[in-house]
Parts: sequence; structure tokens; C-alpha cells
Amino acid sequence: MLAELVARRKVWEDQAHTVVVGTGAGGATAARVLAASGVDVLMLEEGPRLRTPERPRDVIGALSSTLRDAGTQTTTSAHPIPLLQGVAVGGSTAVNSGIIWRMPEDVREAWVREHGLATLVDPAEMDRIYARIEEDLEVEVTGDEVLGGNATLMRYGAEKLGLPGRAMSRNARRCKGRSECLQGCPGERRQSMDVSYVPAAMADGARLRTHARVDRVWIEGGRAVGVKGFVVDPHSRRPVGRFRVRAKQVIVSAGVVHTPLILMRSGLRGLVGRRFQAHPGAAVVARFPEPVRMSFGATQGYEVPMRDRGFKLESLSLPPEMLAARLPGVGRAWQERVAHLDCYAQWCAQVRMEAKGRVVAGPLWPLVFYEPTERDLDRLQEALVLIARMMFAAGAVEVYLGVDGLPEVLRSERELDELASFRWKRGAIHLIASHLFGTAVAGADPARSVVGPDLQSHRIDGLYVMDASVFPTNMGVNPQHSIMAVVVRAAEQLARRSAGRRAA
Ligand SMILES: Cc1cc2nc3c(=O)[nH]c(=O)nc-3n(C[C@H](O)[C@H](O)[C@H](O)COP(=O)(O)OP(=O)(O)OC[C@H]3O[C@@H](n4cnc5c(N)ncnc54)[C@H](O)[C@@H]3O)c2cc1C
Ligand code: SF4
Repeated sequence: MLAELVARRKVWEDQAHTVVVGTGAGGATAARVLAASGVDVLMLEEGPRLRTPERPRDVIGALSSTLRDAGTQTTTSAHPIPLLQGVAVGGSTAVNSGIIWRMPEDVREAWVREHGLATLVDPAEMDRIYARIEEDLEVEVTGDEVLGGNATLMRYGAEKLGLPGRAMSRNARRCKGRSECLQGCPGERRQSMDVSYVPAAMADGARLRTHARVDRVWIEGGRAVGVKGFVVDPHSRRPVGRFRVRAKQVIVSAGVVHTPLILMRSGLRGLVGRRFQAHPGAAVVARFPEPVRMSFGATQGYEVPMRDRGFKLESLSLPPEMLAARLPGVGRAWQERVAHLDCYAQWCAQVRMEAKGRVVAGPLWPLVFYEPTERDLDRLQEALVLIARMMFAAGAVEVYLGVDGLPEVLRSERELDELASFRWKRGAIHLIASHLFGTAVAGADPARSVVGPDLQSHRIDGLYVMDASVFPTNMGVNPQHSIMAVVVRAAEQLARRSAGRRAA
């Protein structure tokens, strides 16, 4: 206790030309671009830097070492939704499945038309940047040899129903199909930020300090001049010291929930924390008569994009202990199902929800107010019913929707038809959200946005936001590629301006 009090009074200090807060898809990319152009960059990351061999392989260890609150933070609503966010070097990319999608043209057009972001998402520039990221991060289409049984069955089900499926593009060249993306790719095939852009930035001179939780941006005379924060204990994550960093410019990339909180603690108001959006998802499990062998194959390998219906379907393999927890029944019935753990497939739906929510600082932890609309729930139900139909089409003998109040086990499409004919009750579907957007949105009009098309605050000079929180809309596809692309675009412009100022 005494040591903690003494430590709290201790202050480490540092300085850099540019300080970047967070090392996820946004922060690592910004650091990489700026360091490559000769800017003196300091990256501050609240979580640890876990080298691949140090990462726990068991699920509980993996969740508690790399996910914020071990994945237990939920939205505050009648329909609480767990929000998954990485807290480690690499941010959420350290735990993601590597799925890569360019921004759909209708989303780009809406950003230009409704938010004045023509320069940010200039089509020729975006094409150039996407191509460069795809080369840097070794993007390739998942090959048949590593699709595995789970994704291959999904392809079969989609083909039988005539749905527009395809093998996923992922930033994992020569993926070995070990199905452990959540725990960190054992062979570092998947190019998450911790094994790609963070080390690349460091090779170009950027520095990294971990266990450094930024509390607020240091502002003097209407200009960002650094950040202040707490050193956190690696195990308890409680503050054990303080730090402050002087800088000429600050880039906040702490993710959709924590970026607005840092901005609010720094005195920014208005739309900060508002316009939170997401792609919440749910999964369906099915039993097949023959072994599926979910433990082999890309963690996620096959997808059925249904953008016109507002959702996307994906294969999603689970570690055995999580799969066992997902099986219905008790006693002998459950034991019998667990004895056939090799015979299950799991496919999930990500819904492009129209609901908008809000992030605010709670007394103990952040509160995220978010309530799916009736239309969102209709889309979700339609998506889950379609997954179940694909499963029966692929030969499933039992389908487990996992919806509270409905039969736990379906054995025929006729049973499914009956359930599909009425609206399932709100809160009955177990949702989870890992694609988050908004809360510090970009736009040309300061009355309708927090940052401008260059991602600089409308109010505070030298303060930039570069992560998914600048997205004015969700997208209906996996976001990491577009987060990186938008950040490259803004960081390249910033690097040019920084070089000009250094030369002057
Ligand atoms: C399990 C999972 C699977 C996913 N799968 C895919 C996929 O396959 N394809 C895809 O496109 N997207 C996927 N996503 C989503 C994608 O990873 C995220 O959208 C993306 O990483 C968000 O980037 P970001 O920079 O906004 O935030 P993050 O990547 O979350 O980075 C934020 C960083 O800021 C740090 N931070 C937060 N607060 C502070 C503070 N106060 N001080 C210092 N540091 C702080 C965090 O520790 C973290 O490192 C997945 C996400 C999850 C969780
Ligand atoms: S599926 Fe396995 S080998 Fe492939 S990228 Fe993920 S962890 Fe790496």
C-alpha cells in the first residue's frame, strides 16, 4: 500500500514529436506511416507486449491476457451485448481472425455525400493504399487446403441454397489452419499489428511504452501539447504511477469505447461519445453425422455476404472448451453430445445494425448505451434462420439456434419453419459485438462531427483521432482494412505537413 502511494507520486516524463495513444489497427498504422517518414514517434499502450510464445494457449488465459475485462464488458440496455476489445500491443488485431475487406462503394459514396469526406476517401488514393496494405500484411484468399471441415461444410450449404459465398481474404499468407487466431497465431502467419506495423514502426525509430494508460490530452492555449496518464500494474491493471509526455501533436487511437473517454476527460464535448454503432453478431451450432474437425482450418475461412439484407454470414471455429459450453442438454444428453465434439460446425451472423448508441464515463467503468431497433432484430432473426437452413442443406442432423425460449434442438427444416413464422422476443438471442464504430466521427461540418476530413479535432489544434471512432457509419463488412486505409490516408497527409514544419 505504502509502495503504491509512493509510486503514485512518482512521475516519469518523456517527449516526442508525435505521441500515439494505442497500438491497434489505427494507432500502429499511424505510427508506422509517420515513423517511416522520419517523424519522432512515441507509442503509448495500456496493455502488455506479448510475444507469441508468451501468449497463453488456453481460452481463459487468452481472454484474460488480451481482452479488456476478459471480454465481459457489455452494453447497458434491455439487450446487453458483450463488447470485445483487445488490450495489448496490437489492440483488437492481436485477437482477430484476419478477415480483410475493402470499403464497399456505397459506404464510400455515403461518406462523401453525407459527411463531406471526399478527400479522406478519394477513390484513387484508397485503391493505392489498400493495395499497399494488402502487400504489407500478406493478404491472400484462404486456400482449400486450410478451409477445414467447418468452412467447407458452409460452402456446401451455401452452394445448395444458391447463396453468394466465397473463401475469405485474410492477412494470413500460408495460414496453417491451426484455428488459434484468438490466442495469437503460433507461426505468426496472421499479420496482426503486434507482429507487423508495430515492429516496422520501431525499426524506423518509433519507441513503445507499454502499461501506459493515457488519462487525458494535455492542452495549452487551445493546442495539444502532450498527454498525461497512469502507469498500470501488469497484473492488477491498477494505477501504480503517473507519467506525462510533451509532444508537438497527439494522435488518439484508443478504440471506439476509450477514445471518446480520453477526449471527454480532456474537456471536449459536443458529439464526443455519440453515434456509437456496431455489427453485433450471433452464432448457430449444428451437429453433423460425420466428423467436421473444427480444430483444423482457418479460424474463419468462408463467408456469405448478404449486404442487401443487412447481414453477413461467416464460418467461425471455436476452441473445444468453448464449443462444449455451447452444446445444449444436461446430464447424459449433454455427455453424449460432448462425446461427439468432433462432429459440430459453427457459423455466425454479423448484422449491420441501424441503431445508434452513446459512450459515457460511468462511476466505475464506461457505459455504452445501445439498443437494437425492431428492424435490426428482424434482420438478425432472418440471418440466423438462413444459417440454420444452410446447415440442414449441408446435412446437419441437429441444429442449435441458442435462442432463449425456443426449442434447444431442431431436427428438421419443418421445425425451423414454425419458429421462423413469429418474432423472437427481444433479448433472447445471445449477441456479441467486435466491430465497433463512431463516437468521435469525422466530417466536414464541425456541427455534425468531432474531427475534420484530415482527422484533426475541429476544436483543438494538433489533436488527431485515428481509429474506428472516426467512422461516421458502420459498413456491413469487416472493418480493420478500412480503419488502416483511412488512417494511412490521414497519416500520410500529416507526415507531409510535419516534414514541412520541420523544414521551416
Ligand atoms: C475477437 C475479434 C475478432 C475480430 N475479427 C476481425 C476480422 O477478422 N477482421 C476485421 O476486419 N476486424 C475484426 N475485428 C475488429 C477489428 O479488430 C477492430 O475493428 C479494429 O482492431 C479496431 O481498431 P482500433 O484502432 O479502432 O482499436 P483497437 O484495435 O481496439 O486498438 C485500441 C488500442 O488502444 C489501447 N488503449 C485503449 N485505451 C487506452 C488508453 N487510455 N491509453 C493507452 N492505450 C489505450 C488498447 O489497449 C488497444 O491496444 C475483430 C475484433 C475482435 C475483438
Ligand atoms: S488459423 Fe491458425 S495458422 Fe491460420 S492464421 Fe489463424 S492462428 Fe495462424
